[in-house]
Amino acid sequence: MSGVRILENEPGRRLKVFAPGKVNLLLRVGERPPNQPRHELLTVFQGLDLGEYLTVEPRDADETDVVHTVLAPGLTGPKNLDGPGNLALKAIQALRVNGAKVPPTSIKVEKNIPVAGGMAGGSADAAGVLYAANALYQLGFTLAELQSLGAKLGADVPFGLTGGNALGLGFGDKMLSLPGGTKCYWVLAVFPRGLSTPKVFGAFDRLIPDPQPLPATLSPDFVAALDGDVAELAGYLHNDLQAAALDIFPELSQVITAAEQAGALKAVVSGSGPTIAALCPDAPSQENVAARLGAHPLIARVFSAAGPARGDTTDSESASFNQ
Ligand code: ATP
Repeated sequence: MSGVRILENEPGRRLKVFAPGKVNLLLRVGERPPNQPRHELLTVFQGLDLGEYLTVEPRDADETDVVHTVLAPGLTGPKNLDGPGNLALKAIQALRVNGAKVPPTSIKVEKNIPVAGGMAGGSADAAGVLYAANALYQLGFTLAELQSLGAKLGADVPFGLTGGNALGLGFGDKMLSLPGGTKCYWVLAVFPRGLSTPKVFGAFDRLIPDPQPLPATLSPDFVAALDGDVAELAGYLHNDLQAAALDIFPELSQVITAAEQAGALKAVVSGSGPTIAALCPDAPSQENVAARLGAHPLIARVFSAAGPARGDTTDSESASFNQ
């Protein structure tokens, strides 16, 4: 099963896909092994029906790869977002480096995931492009191969290719599918500016120089709650990076409090922030929380979203979690 879904397909000419954004239901940050730039993580991702729409088309042989991003109203991004550092362009190059014959390619990104918002928008774009180019140009990579080359582009790319609920271990390279019967109603509150992920990890290192070793696996009660009551699941929401994000941007706590006062079961910082993800018990309370946060002076835009979102179900290669 893939997290990316094909929406329109003109074989050989144009492919449009949906790539899901994510929230982390659980984000535990472990030690940084010696000589490793990154901390070990244990995280539970949930794919959302809020995500990116990507259209991939071949260009003439004498042209170059291009990306053009159209931001949804209320979202902002850096001026050079469509420059050579864009992960969508890097995904095309990664396919070539791995031996694929990929023509110059044009990518249009209709962006709904806030830039530097802790919802893995860049990773979703990379996952979507890997999946779309593989299908459009009939490159023949398996989902597992796309995940392994995607992990080198960004820690959240393998999840973008998995979708649903998934357990991520290690440095984003190990991914196991989790059950996902419980429908989650989310409100995502987006701020006018992003937070740099390395800065948030820097604050984490200052605040917690000696993190606890990570548990070897997930508690069975947590796994059961993914198929159980949403209020019970809300009790398991936790983010080790929240204190670090709040240290840099203390006003985030006002939005968390406002969401919970408006009826959210629990609100947390999403990933490395600053987006606040508020889990609601049902659609009416989701509407209520969205209205309250939409009127909050710190917030640029709210989105309502549902999870877990799954994509194409034609592949069945992702490994599953076994207790
Ligand atoms: P994560 O949670 O994976 O750390 P994030 O959601 O906080 O990421 P992104 O929006 O994925 O942040 O990207 C962070 C930075 O990466 C941006 O500041 C931007 O300059 C750069 N970037 C490169 N490609 C992309 C892309 N396709 N979309 C968004 N940002 C991109």
